[in-house]
Amino acid sequence: MPATASPPVLILGGGLMGLAIAHQCARRGQAVTVLSRRRSEAAGFVAAGMLAPHAEGLSGEQLALGQASLARIPAWVAQIEADSGLTCGLRPCGIVVPFATAAERDAYPTAAWGEQLDRAGLEREVAGIGPRWQAGLLFAQDGQIDNRRRLMRALERACAGLGVTFEEGTEVLGLKRSAAGALEGVRLRRTDGEELSLAAGRAVLACGAWSAQLLPQLPVFPVKGQVLSLQAPMGALERVVFGPGTYAVPREDGLVVVGATSEPEAGFGEGLTPSGQRQLETGIAALLPAAALWPPMERWWGFRPCTPDQGPLLGESPIPGLWLATGHHRNGVLLAAISAELLAEALAGSLTLEGAGWLHHFRRDRFASNGDQGQAGTG
Ligand SMILES: Cc1cc2nc3c(=O)[nH]c(=O)nc-3n(C[C@H](O)[C@H](O)[C@H](O)COP(=O)(O)OP(=O)(O)OC[C@H]3O[C@@H](n4cnc5c(N)ncnc54)[C@H](O)[C@@H]3O)c2cc1C
Repeated sequence: MPATASPPVLILGGGLMGLAIAHQCARRGQAVTVLSRRRSEAAGFVAAGMLAPHAEGLSGEQLALGQASLARIPAWVAQIEADSGLTCGLRPCGIVVPFATAAERDAYPTAAWGEQLDRAGLEREVAGIGPRWQAGLLFAQDGQIDNRRRLMRALERACAGLGVTFEEGTEVLGLKRSAAGALEGVRLRRTDGEELSLAAGRAVLACGAWSAQLLPQLPVFPVKGQVLSLQAPMGALERVVFGPGTYAVPREDGLVVVGATSEPEAGFGEGLTPSGQRQLETGIAALLPAAALWPPMERWWGFRPCTPDQGPLLGESPIPGLWLATGHHRNGVLLAAISAELLAEALAGSLTLEGAGWLHHFRRDRFASNGDQGQAGTG
């Protein structure tokens, strides 16, 4: 366990962001306790794991943040693999975005970062791609990581090895504040039903789609996504194919993750729906007709933590002592590397000028109309 004098930082939420931040804090010698209600509901286990700032067509500061995180990912993954002894399934396999026409391709926001493909180029990059697609962009710099089966477990193991304390099954019920308004601790409920208070002067709110339940003025809401997987023959698909509404992400062992619906209207409604699953089946048939022959494996769903501009909330909250790392919506896997670095540096008081610039762009008060009274949730 690393030697440290400072009291533990509490990480509220043990999903992808919580684990990634805990890991970076622990690497800097900070004592950390992770309070996690239910690891299995984390979007970190749901995501397709694309590392796709260009294929997603991001723009402005979100594209720049995504590119900065993408550049950090190889070193970040190497740290996690070294600290855990587990592999994370990082695959710099490139992503192909297909279009019906060349005009649609040329209008894509990130077209300048991709290699233009005509129909012959598309067929070369994605054998058996459906006849509807006549043009494409190849983003060789984008890739994927096996978040569901590998990264999450490796992060957890890496954290445990560095002395991070986990309270799994512990729900944070509310934030406690001093008379001056600063963070004083949290109220929580353990798996056995026991409710108690835990003192803490510093915490990171990383509760994903549920973050506004603890801090209601945060403009974070769930966008449900359904996913399925197919077992393709090894090597049948090498690149990720990112079509409109449906994508296919081939893991090294031939498993192909097919995602994902985007259902803001579903709220926190759990479960698969016939229409959601049909959308994925129709979408994959249009992208890759041969996929109709690949045996289905699993189906699952989860909730993306979205904000009004679909960018994350990083940095200080209205409550002194409480930090934010939430709202990563569709790109939390991509953005985990830079988010964890920024939060760990901010907590250690060692933020660089560049880091401070990122936190400025993704501060929560860019959503001005949402009330800023610093009122904490009670349950
Ligand atoms: C279908 C789908 C596909 C996606 N695909 C991609 C992709 O290809 N690439 C990409 O980059 N991103 C993708 N994402 C997005 C990515 O998964 C998320 O942005 C990321 O997981 C968010 O991480 P998080 O830690 O904020 O939230 P989560 O991983 O959801 O973790 C939040 C955790 O907080 C816990 N929690 C909540 N409330 C409390 C409480 N009161 N007390 C204690 N614990 C609490 C929950 O139990 C949960 O474990 C996808 C998401 C979905 C749903």
